[in-house]
Amino acid sequence: ARSNGKNSYLLFDGQMKLELLEKRKLEEDMKEAFANEDFDLHYQQQVHVPSGSVKGYEALLRWEHPCGTFIPPSDWIPLAEETGHIVAIGDWVLRKACLTAKRWHDDARNAFTMSVNISALQLMQPDFADRVLAIVAETGLNPCLLILELTETLLIQSMETSKNQLNQIRERGVRIALDDFGKGFSSLSYIKQLPIDIVKIDKSFLDHIEHSLVDRAVVESIISLVQRIDMEVVAEGVEDQEQLRILQEIGCHYVQGYYYSRPQPEHIAFPGNAFVS
Ligand code: C2E
Ligand code: CA
Ligand code: CA
Ligand code: CA
Repeated sequence: ARSNGKNSYLLFDGQMKLELLEKRKLEEDMKEAFANEDFDLHYQQQVHVPSGSVKGYEALLRWEHPCGTFIPPSDWIPLAEETGHIVAIGDWVLRKACLTAKRWHDDARNAFTMSVNISALQLMQPDFADRVLAIVAETGLNPCLLILELTETLLIQSMETSKNQLNQIRERGVRIALDDFGKGFSSLSYIKQLPIDIVKIDKSFLDHIEHSLVDRAVVESIISLVQRIDMEVVAEGVEDQEQLRILQEIGCHYVQGYYYSRPQPEHIAFPGNAFVS
């Protein structure tokens, strides 16, 4: 038994080293990808259900490793947050998304919104509001077309500071969305404490909405709550007609999901080519 214990300790130690090495490697690759501009943004439609028209798009980061494999954001964004790289990457994302939105607006003469994911680490930078407003001004995008998507996280320690930063940005017309609503423990406390304009219902509540009375009740309650306080609501991860029918019945006006479109590269997502009629 003793030798077994020793072996498993060695194995554990070896695994830790391996994990550390892999993490280092991933971090190196990430830095290199950023320098080489291997990152790209894909855009997913957000649709106004009653009219079937595109309201706007969410920008989603894509990283294609030089070896040809696609590395999903969930595999490396946490590391980018841990190492602080997400701040520079986040600026890059915001600039690129704003430039795309500006171009689409000029070409299509249509007021599509552009939603950009913001990491809590970005929001915690003391100059966050200034950075965002400088980038928006530099790209020439009408700030009213920009939406920042925040996720509830333990990282947001000072609600008061975050609130001030967000208010500075909102004063210029940018709107704030709370992502993954209902998934965390403090979603309600977030909409109470932070200036939020839009709530995005987490996909996990929609996955079984056809069969689960509980999930349906939760979604109904979120929608009626959100509408009572004059916020907009978007359901995310809608994949089929039945989910869509239920959401229509409940009165959810905006949806995002594979049912309408997957996130697509800029030239395919472009309104001129992908307009839902
Ligand atoms: P999120 O912000 O909740 O983004 C929605 C995710 O759901 C995206 O995954 C999208 O591709 C996926 N999705 C949309 N519709 C459907 C559907 O109908 N079915 C299914 N199964 N999935 C759907 P993705 O692109 O892998 O991104 C994962 C997460 O990574 C995002 O979740 C967001 O938290 C983070 N992320 C992505 N881009 C950025 C970024 O530029 N900055 C930051 N900070 N985080 C980002
Ligand atoms: Ca999002
Ligand atoms: Ca989400
Ligand atoms: Ca998510």
